[in-house]
Amino acid sequence: MNHTPSPAPSLAPAALERWLTGPRFAALPARDVSQPAPALSFEFFPPRTEALEQQLWTCIRRLEPLAPRFVSVTYGAGGSTQSRTHAIVSRIVQETTLTPAAHLTCVNASRDEIDAVARAYWEAGVRHIVALRGDVPGGGDYVPHPGGYAYAADLVAGLKRIADFEISVAAYPEVHPTALSPEADLDNLKRKLDAGATRAITNYFFEAGTYLRFLDRCAAAGITAPIVPGIMPVSNYAQAVRFSGMCGASVPDWLGHLFEGLDEDHDTRRIVAAVVAAEQVRVLQASGIDEFHFYTLNRSDLVYAIAHILGVRPATAA
Ligand SMILES: Cc1cc2nc3c(=O)[nH]c(=O)nc-3n(C[C@H](O)[C@H](O)[C@H](O)COP(=O)(O)OP(=O)(O)OC[C@H]3O[C@@H](n4cnc5c(N)ncnc54)[C@H](O)[C@@H]3O)c2cc1C
Repeated sequence: MNHTPSPAPSLAPAALERWLTGPRFAALPARDVSQPAPALSFEFFPPRTEALEQQLWTCIRRLEPLAPRFVSVTYGAGGSTQSRTHAIVSRIVQETTLTPAAHLTCVNASRDEIDAVARAYWEAGVRHIVALRGDVPGGGDYVPHPGGYAYAADLVAGLKRIADFEISVAAYPEVHPTALSPEADLDNLKRKLDAGATRAITNYFFEAGTYLRFLDRCAAAGITAPIVPGIMPVSNYAQAVRFSGMCGASVPDWLGHLFEGLDEDHDTRRIVAAVVAAEQVRVLQASGIDEFHFYTLNRSDLVYAIAHILGVRPATAA
């Protein structure tokens, strides 16, 4: 038999060049499984219809075994959304093993009205409030209510006078849209923490570096409270662009490119969304972040999958 080796295939010059000099990316480091999985929290919003309420409870029940640190329910400026927030939070206390946090805002309400809502939460067994200024319904410039709490820092102080609530506040890695300057916004965050908040949850962002740089700025400003990244898995790109315009989150071109041509292809969009969010949280995890807040939009599938990728398992299977 002839054992003469066959000649090595010759590489075209461009391929050879790429082979010799092109970038080589190592995989992201795997989580050290001897360390605890990250702590999670999940945010829901009060739905408007019976069918959407069903979807919310399916979502809550699906995420419950992941034993999040807390779950929060947003608060709108209109009276009916406020009672829906209260109803959902109270039901979470009564019927689940979860610890709820109720969002509360300053918009269009006197101090007495807000204090009454806060007392009702305390009486219902709710011990955690996400204290916010809120936005004017339908847009427009915010003007404090003459007898109200003007800004979130004032609300935090007011809540602490009512009861010893655990309080979370909002933070903006890309600066709040109406802040006078990044420094003024950071001073405001400090005021909220100094008034008694113990954690900030960030507005969502799509570039991990944006959040990590913000953490550096917080540390340089002497902020030591946890600044938990708010993660928004996006499967509806047009909707994300709309939301982001209002809340000051920038949407990178690469995200638009990933969703190009998928408007009518729901299944592929969900897969792309999972990959984008998983990559984002894995980069953050590799950078040492061990707590994440998810904007669930009342849907559990993406969030459950991403939590799983982060190493979180149902409590009963531990
Ligand atoms: C995690 C999270 C959850 C949210 N949940 C809700 C919700 O449930 N319901 C809802 O309606 N909205 C919600 N929002 C949106 C939020 O209400 C808006 O972003 C709002 O515009 C600002 O709220 P804030 O609590 O950050 O306000 P603040 O911290 O009061 O700051 C608002 C702006 O005012 C400036 N400012 C603060 N104090 C002063 C002062 N004394 N003088 C002049 N300027 C000042 C700040 O720099 C900032 O630009 C949420 C946002 C986040 C990030």
